[in-house]
Amino acid sequence: MSRNDNNRTTTDSGMPVSSDEHSLTVGRDGPILLHDLYLIEQMANFNRERIPERQPHAKGSGAFGHFKVTHDVSQFTKAAVFQPGTETETLMRFSSVAGERGSPDTWRDPRGFSIKFYTSEGNYDMVGNNTPVFFIRDPLKFQHFIRSQKRRADNGMRDHDMQWDFWTLSPESAHQVTWLMGDRGIPKTWRNMNGYSSHTYLWVNDKGEKFWVKYHFKTNQGIDFLTQDDADMLAGKDGDYHRRDLFNAIKEGNNPSWTMKVQIMPFEEAKTYRLNPFDLTKVWPHDDYPLHEVGQLTLNRNPTDFHTEIEQAAFEPSNLVPGIGISPDKMLLGRMFSYADAHRHRLGVNYKQIPVNSPKCPVNSYSKDGAMRVQNVTDPVYAPNSKGGPKADPENYPEDTTWAASGEFTREAYTLREDDDDFGQAGILVREVMDNAQRDRLVSNVVGHVSDGVEEPVLSRVIEYWKNIDGDIGERIAKGLGKA
Ligand code: NDP
Repeated sequence: MSRNDNNRTTTDSGMPVSSDEHSLTVGRDGPILLHDLYLIEQMANFNRERIPERQPHAKGSGAFGHFKVTHDVSQFTKAAVFQPGTETETLMRFSSVAGERGSPDTWRDPRGFSIKFYTSEGNYDMVGNNTPVFFIRDPLKFQHFIRSQKRRADNGMRDHDMQWDFWTLSPESAHQVTWLMGDRGIPKTWRNMNGYSSHTYLWVNDKGEKFWVKYHFKTNQGIDFLTQDDADMLAGKDGDYHRRDLFNAIKEGNNPSWTMKVQIMPFEEAKTYRLNPFDLTKVWPHDDYPLHEVGQLTLNRNPTDFHTEIEQAAFEPSNLVPGIGISPDKMLLGRMFSYADAHRHRLGVNYKQIPVNSPKCPVNSYSKDGAMRVQNVTDPVYAPNSKGGPKADPENYPEDTTWAASGEFTREAYTLREDDDDFGQAGILVREVMDNAQRDRLVSNVVGHVSDGVEEPVLSRVIEYWKNIDGDIGERIAKGLGKA
C-alpha cells in the first residue's frame, strides 16, 4: 500500500482520519469510545507488528544489487544466471548467528552471507556464511548446536561453558572454532569479509556433464577485522555498527562488491578424493582445486522498508534453477527442508508471494489458497488436465541434477577417507595460514573466552581439544588458563 497522493492520513482501508493525536471521547474529558476504529486499528496493528524472529540468524540487514558474469563458465553449468555477460538483480542479507534480533553486531560469531538471484529461470538462493566450513556435519546435531550457543534454560543467559561443552564433545567443530576464534571471527564490517557457499553443489552443463562446485565471494574492499577489545567497546556503543556501516556506505554511493569464484571438481573425482568433498567441516585445498573467476556481485540500493524487504526476505537452498543441483552433503540435505519450513512458520505458507521473495519470471505452480495468498489462482486447479493448464517438462530441471545412492538404511557417520580427521585442516590454518600476530590474538581470544565461565570437566577438554589442533597453541592456551 502506498501513501495517498494528497498526503492525508487514512485508516488502512483508505478512510480519511480527522486527527493524528486525539482519540474519540465523550466530551473533551470523557471516556474513549470503542467505535474509535482508528485508535483500535492503531493499537491492534501495533500489537501484531513483530513477527517471529529468525532462529538462528535473527540479527542482520541487507541490500539490493546485481550480479554480472565476467568469465565464461558455460562449460560447467547451463544455468542462465552464470552465462557470459548475464546481469541479474540480487538481494543480499548479512547476519550474525546466535544473537537475537536486537543483539550487538560485533559479538564473535560466524556471519550469514545470503544471496537471492532473481534469475530468468526462477529465484536462485545461496545461503552462505563468511566462513568456508561449519561446526558440524550432520543436521541432527544442528538444533543442539544452536541451543548450546544461545541461552540457558534457568537464567536465560548465554554461557561459555555450554558452548565449549558442545564443541569439545563434537571434535568435528575444531576447524570452524579455530576460524571463529581467529581474526575473522569478528569482521570489521560486512563489507570487509568474504562469503562462501560452504556446501558443495552440483553443476550440470548443456551436454549433461556434471561437476561439483564450491562458491567463494572474495571481498573487493579487503579483509579487515575488529580486535576483541574494539568489538566489546562497539557492542556497548553502537549495537548496529555493521548494519549502519552497510546502509551508510551504499547511501554515500560507496557500493560494496565481491568477486565470485568457484572451485570445480570433476564429478568422478569425488569418489576417490583423499577427503570427503561433501563434509562441511572441510575445505578443498586451493592447490588441489584452484579458483575460477565467474563474476562481480555489487550492492547499490538500500531497502526503503526494512520489514518488508529484509525482515520478510526468505532465502532457502531449495531455490534452485536448471543447471544447479545439490550434493550428498548431509547438512545441505537437512537445510533443503528446514529453511522453507522456517519461512512457512515465520511468514506463512504464501511467503513466496511477498514481493521481495517473488520470482521475476512467470510462476505456473498449482499451489492454491492458504493464509495471505494475494495473487489470483486460475482454473484449472489440478493436473493432469485437458483445460490448457501448465504441463511439467521432464527435461532441464534441477531435480534432474542428481547423483546415485544405494545401501541399507543406517544411522552412521560418513565413511572415513585417508585425510578425514577432525583436527588436520584446523592445524594447517593455525600453522600455515596465520602469522605470529594472528596466532597471538587467537591464543588471547580463546583464553579470554574460556576464562569467562568454563568449568571442569569442560575446561580440561578445552585444553585437550587445542592440543589436538596444534601442540604449541594448546600449550600456550593451557598456560594462559593457568593449567600448564
Ligand atoms: P591457501 O593458502 O591456498 O588458502 C588459505 C586461505 O585462508 C585463503 O583463502 C585465505 O583467504 C584464508 N585465510 C587467510 N587468513 C585467514 C584467517 N586468519 N582465518 C581464516 N582464513 C584465512 O591454503 P589451502 O587452500 O590449502 O587451505 C589452508 C587452510 O586455509 C585451510 O585449512 C582452511 O583453514 C583455510 N581456508 C581455506 C579455504 C579454501 O577454500 N581452500 C578458504 C578459506 C580458508 P583470503 O583469500 O581472504 O586471503
